[in-house]
Amino acid sequence: MIRKRNLVFLGPPGAGKGTLSEILISDEKLVHISTGDIFRAEIRNGTALGSEAKAYMDAGKLVPDRLVVDMVAARLAKDDCAGGFILDGFPRTVVQAEMLDQIAGKTGRRIDCAVLFDAPRDLLIQRLTARLTCRNCKANFNKLFAKPRQDGVCDHCGGELYQRSDDSLETAQNRLKVYEEQTAPLIEFYTAGGLLARIDSSLPKDRAYAALLAVLS
Ligand code: ADP
Ligand code: ZN
Repeated sequence: MIRKRNLVFLGPPGAGKGTLSEILISDEKLVHISTGDIFRAEIRNGTALGSEAKAYMDAGKLVPDRLVVDMVAARLAKDDCAGGFILDGFPRTVVQAEMLDQIAGKTGRRIDCAVLFDAPRDLLIQRLTARLTCRNCKANFNKLFAKPRQDGVCDHCGGELYQRSDDSLETAQNRLKVYEEQTAPLIEFYTAGGLLARIDSSLPKDRAYAALLAVLS
């Protein structure tokens, strides 16, 4: 069992945060909290929050903090997070990270580790623009490196695979730029707090996973 259980997964889009989260939660009883997945569910359900978030997401921009922070606070307050959680895609700005410390403090939880997943930019673009996502279970596949067994069908649940609207080349480039400008400063933030660990996520996923377990144990 891993020792560090209250986790932040940090890194550019396409680095594999979602993929490694899926593998980790199959081995460890952790709650996976992906703010991107929550927004996509809100959009699918046609909520007001979803329609407000969609315009930002399709442009590759960040959704405003006020829409994100309360959502995460409510999720972290639930009892199932007591045994550990993965925050995937949150925080994405220094302001969000500071707010996370406050939220976590209120519920008596503390972040144990911020894992930085990193990979060269060319690989990130390649992964993003070839990515296929399951509508049902959210698993990711890739047209180039990790094809599903049957075209358009999820290996895990039989759900339909689709290309996320923000995985077009133009939006993917924008998301990487936003990451560099707004999220990369968190590397400094978590290094200063003594919580940062790095994973080379250009490795094949079983090796990246072994590296992840090593930093969490
Ligand atoms: P990826 O990490 O692959 O870029 P996500 O699924 O985490 O994608 O996020 C998709 C989009 O959702 C982001 O580009 C952004 O618009 C929005 N989003 C997700 N999390 C946050 C956040 N913490 N703050 C602001 N916007 C967010
Ligand atoms: Zn599926």
